[in-house]
Amino acid sequence: MEQMSSQLSTIMPDCTCASPPFDHPKADIILRSSDRVDFRVFKLFLALASPLFETMFELPQPAVGTSDDTKDGLPVIPMQENSKILDTFLRFCYPSTLAEDPSLDNLIDIKAIIGVAKKYSLDLIERRVCQALVNSKVLEAEPLRCFAIARNARLTHETITAARYTLRQPLIPTCLPEIDMITASDLLALLTYHKQCSVAAASLLVNLDWMTNHYSNPSGCNWLLDTRRVDRWGASSEPPICKCARSHEAKFQLWKSAPYSWWTTYMEETFELLRDTPSGDIVRSEVEKTIQKVRDVGCTTCSAHVKEKMEEFSNLLALNVDKATASIKLEIDRDFRLPPVVGSGPPKEKKKQRT
Ligand SMILES: [Zn+2]
Repeated sequence: MEQMSSQLSTIMPDCTCASPPFDHPKADIILRSSDRVDFRVFKLFLALASPLFETMFELPQPAVGTSDDTKDGLPVIPMQENSKILDTFLRFCYPSTLAEDPSLDNLIDIKAIIGVAKKYSLDLIERRVCQALVNSKVLEAEPLRCFAIARNARLTHETITAARYTLRQPLIPTCLPEIDMITASDLLALLTYHKQCSVAAASLLVNLDWMTNHYSNPSGCNWLLDTRRVDRWGASSEPPICKCARSHEAKFQLWKSAPYSWWTTYMEETFELLRDTPSGDIVRSEVEKTIQKVRDVGCTTCSAHVKEKMEEFSNLLALNVDKATASIKLEIDRDFRLPPVVGSGPPKEKKKQRT
């Protein structure tokens, strides 16, 4: 036994002390991280932040100096979390005058802290961390991962917000590390939501009333329309306004006039993208390519105003896409039994409700 103990002491590295404010000489307890960093903290702050800590501190503590569970006369509590995670969540527990809230701008930290907050019933911290989950920077980069984490944590508002951001990306990802955090029902709900949003966006190409209502009359659209009178074969005796080709496809006719082909090509290509990514942002991101194409053709008439008019138009289309998809609801079953948050205890019961 003695031999084993001496072997252990040679294998286990010495503990290091955490950085301020978790190195206070008057602290009354030590939390030891999984990577053996000792955090000297005040029980009061932790007990105020978490009922679980409060209960833990009410249990009989080991007598000072009688076991390995004490150090410098203070009880030592071994924690499952590593020092980085422990430092982050202790900063949330401490008053802001002593430790500022840490910034959470990456998903790995957010996921870990949500797990810890749930484990220790740190409701207030959980809410603050959830705000980090709907930070637009995080959402834009990893919407599907945010969806999985938010859904697993049963965060309704964050789940719905993340689902909306997934519309900016094709739904089938090459890799989703958090796939095990959601159920097949969750994924089906998201796929259905995506599909319904695609259908809603596609309806804007079938019916161009949103355009005619916005521009009121052909003169409002003279930058994309050939308003010359044409015969039934699409020919006109009047000289063309510019050399750009026109499209006589029935679905693109506005006030019975033929628009420029570069505009109909933009519409076809954009709506093709919207099938997979039904989001207004996709519309805006595609417009620059069309502006460049028109300029490359060298039509001075169209080139003169294509940037201004197409940017305005793409904004109009983007707004209408977002408006069309805004009415689609994500039908997630809030009563469905979810797998537990990775690295934490069982999720708390919350009030039953449906989206
Ligand atoms: Zn032209």
